[in-house]
Amino acid sequence: MNDTPLLQIRGVTKSFGSFLAVNNIDLEIFKGELFCLLGGSGCGKTTLLRMLAGFESPTSGQIIIDGKDMSNVPPYERPTNMMFQNYALFPHMTVEKNVAFGLQQDGLNKTDIADKVDDILRLVELQDYKKRRPQQLSGGQKQRVALARALVKQPKLLLLDEPLGALDKKLRDQTQFELMNIQEKVGVTFVVVTHDQEEAMTLSSRIAVMNEGQFVQIGSPTEIYEFPKNRFVADFIGSANIFEGSVVENSSSWIKIQTDIGNFRVETNNKLTVGDKVFIGVRPEKIKLTKLSSTLTKKDGLIGVIDDIGYFGNSSRYKVKLKSNRIVDVTVPNQVRLKDLEKQISEKDEVYLEWDTSSVMMLSK
Ligand code: ATP
Repeated sequence: MNDTPLLQIRGVTKSFGSFLAVNNIDLEIFKGELFCLLGGSGCGKTTLLRMLAGFESPTSGQIIIDGKDMSNVPPYERPTNMMFQNYALFPHMTVEKNVAFGLQQDGLNKTDIADKVDDILRLVELQDYKKRRPQQLSGGQKQRVALARALVKQPKLLLLDEPLGALDKKLRDQTQFELMNIQEKVGVTFVVVTHDQEEAMTLSSRIAVMNEGQFVQIGSPTEIYEFPKNRFVADFIGSANIFEGSVVENSSSWIKIQTDIGNFRVETNNKLTVGDKVFIGVRPEKIKLTKLSSTLTKKDGLIGVIDDIGYFGNSSRYKVKLKSNRIVDVTVPNQVRLKDLEKQISEKDEVYLEWDTSSVMMLSK
C-alpha cells in the first residue's frame, strides 16, 4: 500500500431536503485497494459512490482524487469510471464496439483503439466473443464486457455498483475470484458497493460497514468479522449470539461479566469498571456442541436441549434452548459422513456448549 491516499473523503455530507443520506464521513483509500462499501438498503452507499463519480455533488465536504479537489470537476473529466449494476451495454453494438465506444469519444485513432480493445478483451477472456451482441451473451459474459468497457479507459479509480448483483449464486462465487484476479492484474483501485456481506468479505482488502449515512467500522475482512466494534456490525457480518451483562470484576487485562447464562471472563484492555453494562457476542461456529451422556464427564459448559436443526449438507445449524429459555445458535461443520445415523444429534437431545475465552467478542451498544 502506498502512503499517499488516492482518494480522500473529508467531512462529506449529502442531504436530500432535510434527509441526511450521507452524514459527515471521512475516508482514505489507497492505490491498488479493492475497497467495499457494505450496508443494508438505503444506508447511503450508492449516494456516496455517485458523489465520487461526480453524478451528485456533496452538500458539504471535499472529495480529493489523486491530490486534486473534485468540487468543480464534471464526471467525464474525473480519473474515475463507473460500472453500473445493469451493465448499461448498448444492445445494438457488438462486444467490440461496446468496449471501443469510450475510446472513440475521446478521439483515439483506429489502430490504438483496436489494440486496446484486443488487450482488454483478452484480459477478461472474451477475445472470441468480439462480434457478438449483448443479447447473445450469458449474464457472466455481459458482466465481463461491462468491466472491460470500464477498464479500457484506464481510470485511476473504478467505481462498481453491485457488480455481481445480476448474477445467480454459483456464477457470482466464480465471478468474485475473476474480478479479484483482474483487479490484481490491472492494479486499478476499485471501490465496490454491495449489500452482500459474503461478497464484501471475499473481494475486499478493506470494508467500510455503513449504516444510516455513516461508517460504523472500517477494517480488513478479518478485523471486521473477528473484532466487530458493536452489536450492529457483529450481527450484520455473519451472525452472533449476543448476551447483555454487567462487569462484576476487573483487572488490567480481563474483566468478569455476569449475564443471564452465567459468568464469563473476557480478555480485554477496555477500561471498564464494576457495574458497567456491556454486551458480549459469540459466533455460532466458535461454539463446541457435545451430546450429554451418562459416561461423559461434564466440563465447564452450558447445558441445553436441541430445539431445532437446520441441515445444510456441509454444515448444520443447531438452535439450543438453555434453562433460561435463551436460544443459542451453534454451527457445526459436517466433517465426516454419518454412517450411523443413530449417533447424530437430534431434536430434544441434551447437549452442552463450550467456547474458548478468546472467542468472546466485547461489543459496544
Ligand atoms: P440500496 O442498496 O437500496 O441501493 P443504498 O445504500 O445504495 O441502498 P442510497 O441509494 O445511497 O442507498 O440512498 C440513501 C437514502 O437516500 C435512501 O433513503 C434514499 O431514498 C435517499 N435518496 C437517494 N437519492 C435520493 C434523491 N435523489 N432524492 C431524495 N432521496 C434520495
